[in-house]
Formats: sequence, structure tokens, C-alpha cells
Amino acid sequence: MDRPSIRLIGDRRMQCKDIPDAAFLEAVRSCPGTYGPSNWRLRWDVQARLEDALGSIPDNLFLAKAERLMNRGLLGGCPCGCRGDYHLPEECQGGSTCCPDPKG
Ligand SMILES: [Zn+2]
Ligand SMILES: [Zn+2]
Repeated sequence: MDRPSIRLIGDRRMQCKDIPDAAFLEAVRSCPGTYGPSNWRLRWDVQARLEDALGSIPDNLFLAKAERLMNRGLLGGCPCGCRGDYHLPEECQGGSTCCPDPKG
């Protein structure tokens, strides 16, 4: 997909805060788990779902949002820009070194 590197909302650039946490996590949840022990979702699938909901999202912004969610313990996986292997903490089978226990 040919995706612009920035997207304007009004007169400013789209930022992470323009992507609701819930929308991102719902996109992860709605993707079919393709393989892997924590029901991994691939980055490209998740981004396509999220763009269905919100419109075009620049790659760097998508990755930054994923990293923020991971840093807050709301999402598991890799933020580097590879295939992602995104997964939900409640489905994590990676142990405590992967996702923190969502029950606290
Ligand atoms: Zn990676
Ligand atoms: Zn995990």
C-alpha cells in the first residue's frame, strides 16, 4: 500500500494521541491469530484493520503507537517494525518476561 509518511489532521500532523488506545487494541483483537503461542497478530494485518477504522496511518506513527502501548503493558510483541507478533497481554504465553500479568 502506498502510504504517506505524514498525515495532516486540520493544520497539524497526526500524532499518537489521535489513535485511540482502544481502537488499536480492538484492531489487534479483531485480527485472526495466525500462529504462535500467544495468538500472534502480524503487524500488517493490524495496521490494515486500524486503517479501516481511522484512515491512513503513517508507518512511523503506527509503530510509535504500538511501542507506547507496549511500554504501558497494554500490548505485547515487538515494536521495531518487523512483522510485529503483536499479542494481547491476556493471551500472552510468553511468561513474565514478555507481558506483565494483566491482573496485576
Ligand atoms: Zn521486531
Ligand atoms: Zn506477551
